[in-house]
Amino acid sequence: MATVLDIAKHNPNAAPVAVSEAARAAGFIEKTAELTVAAGAAPGGASLIGLTRGQLKDSLSQIGVPERELKMRVAQLWHWIYFRGARDFAEMTNMGKELRAKLAAAYTLARPKVVSEQVSKDGTRKWLIRMASTGPLDKGAEIECVYIPEVDRGTLCVSSQVGCTLTCSFCHTGTQRLVRNLTSAEIVAQLIVARDCIGDWPGATPPEGAFVPNDGGRFVSNIVFMGMGEPLYNTDNVIAAIDVMSDGEGLTLSRRRITVSTSGVVPQMERLGAEANTMLAISLHAVRDELRDELVPINRKYDIRQLLDACRAYPGLSNARRITFEYVMLKGVNDSDADARKLVQLLKGIPAKINLIPFNPWPGSKYECSDWERIERFSEIVYRAGYASPVRTPRGRDILAACGQLKSETEKLRARARMMAEQGIGAEGVYAVGNGE
Ligand code: SAH
Ligand code: SF4
Repeated sequence: MATVLDIAKHNPNAAPVAVSEAARAAGFIEKTAELTVAAGAAPGGASLIGLTRGQLKDSLSQIGVPERELKMRVAQLWHWIYFRGARDFAEMTNMGKELRAKLAAAYTLARPKVVSEQVSKDGTRKWLIRMASTGPLDKGAEIECVYIPEVDRGTLCVSSQVGCTLTCSFCHTGTQRLVRNLTSAEIVAQLIVARDCIGDWPGATPPEGAFVPNDGGRFVSNIVFMGMGEPLYNTDNVIAAIDVMSDGEGLTLSRRRITVSTSGVVPQMERLGAEANTMLAISLHAVRDELRDELVPINRKYDIRQLLDACRAYPGLSNARRITFEYVMLKGVNDSDADARKLVQLLKGIPAKINLIPFNPWPGSKYECSDWERIERFSEIVYRAGYASPVRTPRGRDILAACGQLKSETEKLRARARMMAEQGIGAEGVYAVGNGE
């Protein structure tokens, strides 16, 4: 089991990054997680947005829809919610008035609240989204979600957790104190909110002046789990959310256009491939264990060799379905020619793409981005060895929407967590991350 740092013991008035810095200095791999929220059927008055077919079925059962009708009613709701983007039960004209009234009395189609929207000069949009409150003491967790439009595709970068329990030394999200898993509904809701905001439903139109793909396809065509959190510490909910997002009768995203990025939770990788059948991205960032231990501390649990073995065994891996290896370019740290050569040597035999990511600085970060010539030279060595090595153009840097810059204000809620911990409330809800393997 991983070492866990108990946030409740720390000075509540300390600067927001103090715990993580302490965690990093003390060599912790993980911080304590916050309270979990049970993923289940919508309780009375709750929103049906983001629910799975099973959860919708339970919600309908709870308001007395007879068993023999359930399948048909779920299919109808599914179509209205996920194909049409309905916001009101009144729109669901193929359902009887009486049922619509019952639904409206018991449930809503409310989306999580968009607290703010920032639009970058390059068209990237970042939304701060507040999830529904989970109880009287909860103001609602806040997460960030980023939309990156290109001419022929629109990529939505979703979060899988509020914050991240891991403490990668170059990542802003890792400095956030409080962490909890998002439910599958909260993950799906990010896609719904994005489609609302950019007018990506039948009959809707994008906001004036918005940059969206113009290839005639959907405005959100791709999903990357590269927002806040480690998706493979929340595998059940991530897989359930992917099932909803890729369902052919509703949101219809191709699984091949969904990429899950992991820092290297080796024991969960097989399951992701077998059950979700998505593309995989690995946050590699270093080619020697000594350095990766420091940059991506989960490496101390699962080292580079174990990680690459799990990659070789990833279900569905082929030349047509390559693994993307992400490599953040840190000046003077991991960007030498020798590093580039070692990288291609390590990946030998794995159908791979290498994605070089210019480091995105954030307030208080201790690294610098490699110089452009260095990135080009590195890229050339990788390219000559036969790998596509696109340098990821930083998008939305001006609105801190680029990789690793995400960090919500949810840590302000830490006082509540402390209070609950002191009162022993919800102790059973505190999950030890790293155990779910
Ligand atoms: N936790 C998962 C997914 C979210 S992070 C993971 O680590 O893979 C998404 C990507 O952004 C990862 O490759 C991560 O290493 C990278 N990243 C984090 N901080 C960054 C920064 N400051 N600059 C550039 N990339 C960063
Ligand atoms: Fe978490 Fe990924 Fe950031 Fe590491 S890089 S702290 S795993 S979000």
